[in-house]
Amino acid sequence: MASAFSHIAIPAVLYANFKNQAVNFKLLLMASICSVIPDADVIAFKFGISYQSQWGHRGFTHSIVFAVVLACICLLFYRRVNSRPWIVFWFCFISCVSHPLLDMMTNGGLGVALYWPFSEERVFFSFRPIQVSPIGVGRFFTENGFKVMASELMWVLMPSLLWVAIGAGLRRKYSK
Ligand SMILES: [Zn+2]
Repeated sequence: MASAFSHIAIPAVLYANFKNQAVNFKLLLMASICSVIPDADVIAFKFGISYQSQWGHRGFTHSIVFAVVLACICLLFYRRVNSRPWIVFWFCFISCVSHPLLDMMTNGGLGVALYWPFSEERVFFSFRPIQVSPIGVGRFFTENGFKVMASELMWVLMPSLLWVAIGAGLRRKYSK
């Protein structure tokens, strides 16, 4: 995983750039959950499921199909979040699928089963600048945790802020 902070950065940026009545705070909360939920698969370790298994960490929950299914489930609750179905779908889908895409830029662990169930192959991008985050919060506050934060700041949070700034600039320009 990259850390949860980095994963939530993606829906946060989308929200900051597109917020309106339909892209609202409730939807942001829902999408934030979508962005971190793939790592709920670490529970597989507790059940003795190996990392390599399609049911293990970075397995099926890190696939495009999982993101589509999750977004479809979220879509059912579009009234609850006072939004519109297709906005809920895309917001939640992008938030969820951004998770494995970010993981594919980390420099450790196994790749993600992005194409599950069509392929169980674990894939990475060839560009992998993000220091892999340790599994579990306890180990996050270590020297390695510091390295993780520094690399995520550089490769995820800074670009996110830049994106928000550019978005805000464009909105100001074109809303006149
Ligand atoms: Zn992950």
